Amino acid sequence: MTERFIGIDLGTTNSCVATVEDGVPTVIANKGGYKTTPSMVAITESGRRLIGHIAKRQAITNAQNTVYAAKRLIGRKWSHASVEPARQVLPYKLVEGELGDVRIELREKAYAIPEISAMVLTEMKRIAEEHCGGPVEKAVITLPAYFNDGQRQATKDAGRIAGLDVIRVINEPTAAALAYGFKKNITKRVAVYDLGGGTFDISVLDIHEGVFEVLATSGDTFLGGEDFDQRIVEWLVLDFVKEHKIDLRTDVMALQRLRDAAENAKMQLSLSVSTEINLPFIITADSKPDALHLQRTLTREKFQELTADLVQRSITICERMLQEARLTTSDLNEVILVGGMTRVPAVQAAVKSFFGLDPAKSVHPDEVVALGAAVQAAALVGGAKGEEEKPTMLLLDVTPHHLGIMIAGGYFNVLISSNTTVPTSAMHTFTTVRDDQTTVKIVVLQGDSRVAQENELLGEFLLTDLPAGPRGTVEIDVRFDISSDGIVSVAAKDKTTGREQSIQVTASSRMSEDELSNIMGANDEFAVAEKNAEQFQALKNEVERSLRDIDRLLPGVRDFISASELGDGALKKIDAVKERARAAMQAQDIEALKSVHEPLDRAVTMLKGVTDRIAKP
Ligand code: AMP
Repeated sequence: MTERFIGIDLGTTNSCVATVEDGVPTVIANKGGYKTTPSMVAITESGRRLIGHIAKRQAITNAQNTVYAAKRLIGRKWSHASVEPARQVLPYKLVEGELGDVRIELREKAYAIPEISAMVLTEMKRIAEEHCGGPVEKAVITLPAYFNDGQRQATKDAGRIAGLDVIRVINEPTAAALAYGFKKNITKRVAVYDLGGGTFDISVLDIHEGVFEVLATSGDTFLGGEDFDQRIVEWLVLDFVKEHKIDLRTDVMALQRLRDAAENAKMQLSLSVSTEINLPFIITADSKPDALHLQRTLTREKFQELTADLVQRSITICERMLQEARLTTSDLNEVILVGGMTRVPAVQAAVKSFFGLDPAKSVHPDEVVALGAAVQAAALVGGAKGEEEKPTMLLLDVTPHHLGIMIAGGYFNVLISSNTTVPTSAMHTFTTVRDDQTTVKIVVLQGDSRVAQENELLGEFLLTDLPAGPRGTVEIDVRFDISSDGIVSVAAKDKTTGREQSIQVTASSRMSEDELSNIMGANDEFAVAEKNAEQFQALKNEVERSLRDIDRLLPGVRDFISASELGDGALKKIDAVKERARAAMQAQDIEALKSVHEPLDRAVTMLKGVTDRIAKP
């Protein structure tokens, strides 16, 4: 038997888990029967972690401690331009981490973003384990194609924290194409247009007899459903200000209700041309005796007007990508729509008009990415074990950004261009500029600008212990590798001696190994505590049921027992065990509760027996 494996689509808004069963890619539903689970995490007042639907349900009343859209922040540095605007609109608190990364403060504890994403992944793992009836560790996780190295590393870290063996991270549009072309003997050039809750990706692939070759990819990691919702929220807020001179954004609960209503209205408008937004008692104003209500009609036309530029932004990215890849829309045979946002009629119309193609009907926009991840996991696990039928499939993906170094004058010297097939590598020779120089700093960047500073800093690599010598004579070969995961690594060799040079990585916002293992340890303890809490609750429910039975039965038989051979001693024993049960529940003492469980059961059985005897003399 092959190892169990899963594919996880870790979405901004929703996540989905799938596996391959008897050769068929299959989405695994959660306990509630839903095939997707909200990527939401909450910490309750008592310190419990809530994940998924249960977190979403309590978001309005616990908005400051409920995290949504954490994926927009994963692998981001605090200084990144996107962080400040996010701070303005998010109901939960962002703080700067010691590594210059973004953290989320919930009930006075700062969580790293991978820690939050790990909670969602843990839930997806649990859903899969319940379905499979045993542990599942191997996973392929998907991420936006346009994610940079930091975001990829952070996603892999999240997987590790969740106790997963992340055998590969793959790009979401590529995963969608894998699911689309799985076991189909087709030769096609397809575009995958993927607009999800938080990110946009576009990829063009050639599919030919099981080979999936990505030709080009582009995207925007800050363009998605959240932005569309935000436009509706702003429209509602401005209108309310005009009418009542009150800014609803200042009230966390009102803002959360607005967000929910905006998303619902957006979804309604995929089906109808007009929708009602009704939020009674949205806020109370000091100057007015009664609470104020919000009631508005939003037409599809108005929604399109509010969001037209967002749709256009995605089309401009498609246009640019095709140009860079020297392709035109007439080179494409098919366009696949992925992500919940592609249900929006204006998005569908824009895609159809730009590509001149009717989108493929056979894919499910919410499930296709997880299915593709599962297909890839099957290929990797089957292949690694050399067992079972291994899907004959080859995936050739590309790197989304240029990779390079900073050179004199603050310029960006590209070593690996965007859209190069991965894995790939490039070599660059560094030399000393001073006599007896023992260290050289390499600033590694990813991005598209000629100006070094405008790109994403991946890290500063310090070559140390260089041999002494006149300037220009010491030459170090540095190798830059990009793995199939799109993750960058750097290795250096002394050119004259061939000796490996040591490298120190600084200026990286990635969590250290120490912090990762601390979190994993804490999570294990947390999991044990949660399990104990669950066990305690289950036992408490049973004990409470027995106590209720005793209280119901005892009054009718008390005199009979007292007069019988059992006597008052039996009654005293029952009272004593009831007392112990109440004390154990109050003290939350699971051992004490276990010790009363059986005596309570016996008492109930005895009382039922006596009740029957009295009823049938
Ligand atoms: P995904 O990240 O693929 O799960 O996409 C989630 C995004 O799709 C969220 O912004 C949802 O509000 C949006 N979405 C889901 N269903 C619909 C729908 N029927 N109409 C409009 N937007 C939708």
